[in-house]
Amino acid sequence: MVSPLHFSFELFPPRTPENMAKLPAVIGQLAAVRPDYFSITYGAGGSTMKGTYETMVAVVEHSGVEAVPHLTCVGSTRAHIAELLRRYRDAGVKRIVALRGDLPATAMSPAAPGEFHYANELVSFIRETHGDEFKIEVAAYPEMHPQAHSPGADFENFLRKVEAGADAALTQLFYNADAYFDFMERCGKAGIRIPVVPGIMPITGFSNTVRFCAGCGADLPRWVRLRLEELQDDKASLQDFGLEVVTRLCDTLLRNGAPGLHFYTINQSEPTLRLLKNLALPAPA
Ligand SMILES: Cc1cc2nc3c(=O)[nH]c(=O)nc-3n(C[C@H](O)[C@H](O)[C@H](O)COP(=O)(O)OP(=O)(O)OC[C@H]3O[C@@H](n4cnc5c(N)ncnc54)[C@H](O)[C@@H]3O)c2cc1C
Repeated sequence: MVSPLHFSFELFPPRTPENMAKLPAVIGQLAAVRPDYFSITYGAGGSTMKGTYETMVAVVEHSGVEAVPHLTCVGSTRAHIAELLRRYRDAGVKRIVALRGDLPATAMSPAAPGEFHYANELVSFIRETHGDEFKIEVAAYPEMHPQAHSPGADFENFLRKVEAGADAALTQLFYNADAYFDFMERCGKAGIRIPVVPGIMPITGFSNTVRFCAGCGADLPRWVRLRLEELQDDKASLQDFGLEVVTRLCDTLLRNGAPGLHFYTINQSEPTLRLLKNLALPAPA
């Protein structure tokens, strides 16, 4: 591990053979800073169980670092989830990121179709069927999940996941440190003691940053958006500016009690490694 703090890297299953071929090098470069684990998305952008599994195998083969599958329950059945859990247990998986997943565009109600409607039901199911065999991580939304009725209602729903047995949480990406501190204050008042690790998306471009933020309801501060827009045709300057903004965010979070960082790597090593280098973290314990 790069420091006594928690560090993890998120990958997604590559969609083309060319991108799959590039992944071992990315994994090797990221593994060199000794993260706690790599997590691998499932279901997002049409990715399949096979893709998640193959990416997990690539992580283990090319790094020896723990590989953690995401598991979404939207549109699924108890029998199917039970089968996936058995396969993961038999493959030696020790930790799972348990999620509802995004609703299909045609959804008529906020409750997911299928036999599970919300992530708290998935967490309960894992605990009922597997006890403490898996560590369970869930999603947290310092700036509120975009479909929630209110920040208070969303927080109550986060609490349900904790009460159902989550061991830790990873947050949605955000660029306002105060949103995280406000969330943690609410956790403190509600007696939630599990680690809530900030999810960090390095800034690598103007249009993709705007798109990522719009997609998950994250607030991109106006001054950052304007500066990225201004620099969009000067890649090197934009990336330097993005690095500065996100380094400051990470530094502020870690100095004020965040237990570590979870990086949305988008299958690139360079942006995350530049950030980690900039952060001047304490030496490993
Ligand atoms: C760290 C992280 C990793 C992710 N990885 C993936 C991935 O691999 N694949 C993928 O498809 N997506 C992924 N996502 C996106 C995630 O699936 C979406 O944000 C999804 O819309 C919500 O998932 P959730 O688990 O947070 O849902 P939930 O916790 O179920 O919340 C969903 C919505 O329902 C509300 N709600 C929750 N419980 C209840 C309840 N009992 N009653 C009424 N309302 C309730 C909440 O307030 C919220 O608005 C990830 C998100 C994060 C933060």
